Amino acid sequence: MKHINQNLNFAKMSNFDLTDSTKREIANVTDEWPTSSGKTQYQRFLYGKDLTYRQAVLAKCAECCGGYVDGRGDCKATKCPLYPLMPYRDKD
Ligand code: SF4
Repeated sequence: MKHINQNLNFAKMSNFDLTDSTKREIANVTDEWPTSSGKTQYQRFLYGKDLTYRQAVLAKCAECCGGYVDGRGDCKATKCPLYPLMPYRDKD
């Protein structure tokens, strides 16, 4: 999987640990992500907007899959509690 930005090492950080400036930096990187289910929702999260449960799932999966820069497909993480709601489940 491609790294969305080599200078941002936030993979082991919770979103709740990120500073506002780091969130803005990540949001700028996400502008380069391809259109996908979850891109807009993840950006809304970074900008502090409210999300529904469904939007939060889409946002999390987009983040988890690195913005789907390698393509929109099934993450195949069947042990993940969000997997039944993954937007590209069974779409390879
Ligand atoms: S379902 Fe897949 S893409 Fe979504 S959070 Fe879980 S592991 Fe990540």
